[in-house]
Amino acid sequence: MSSQPHTVLPWFVRRTRLPLLSLRCVDCRSESATTGEGRFRVNANGKLLDVWLLVGCVSCDRTSKLTVHERAQVRSFDPAELDGYHANDPALVASKLLDPLLACRNRFTLDWKGAWRLDTPSAWLDEAWPVQVEVAFEDPVPVRPERLIAQGLGLSRNEVLRRIKCDISLRRQTSAGFTFTVMPGD
Ligand SMILES: [Zn+2]
Repeated sequence: MSSQPHTVLPWFVRRTRLPLLSLRCVDCRSESATTGEGRFRVNANGKLLDVWLLVGCVSCDRTSKLTVHERAQVRSFDPAELDGYHANDPALVASKLLDPLLACRNRFTLDWKGAWRLDTPSAWLDEAWPVQVEVAFEDPVPVRPERLIAQGLGLSRNEVLRRIKCDISLRRQTSAGFTFTVMPGD
């Protein structure tokens, strides 16, 4: 019997909405905030611009400002980007929120719970074993491969550890694409 996988199946990890932010509210001490509709605030001071992304506490609605640009030269901005800030462009809100630099600078982490889904082809268990699966990430959702695979295949964690061959650690969180092979069950 050949150990070469017969079939390669695509799985996709996709964002379904923007993640919440794990960010402590200074008023009510809640640790969850949202970008809501997505709003920027731009403040001009001579030739310098400050740009903030506004987020609201999910408990008390208090607004906080996350620094996107601080005292940046107006001429250093791409005009399209500047228009995007003024227009609260949803794509720009998403790209700034998901930019690790913004999270680092403003000391929050993203809470992806309920904000993504795994898309798998249906009725693939009729395929000949072993099966290879390629997992692609359309958004940088951090997942633990072990859990993702268990969910996608409807297997227990023990079965995952027994039947899955993979070059990366199944326990370590990743948001980069990876491939694994499913070996036949007993
Ligand atoms: Zn609050």
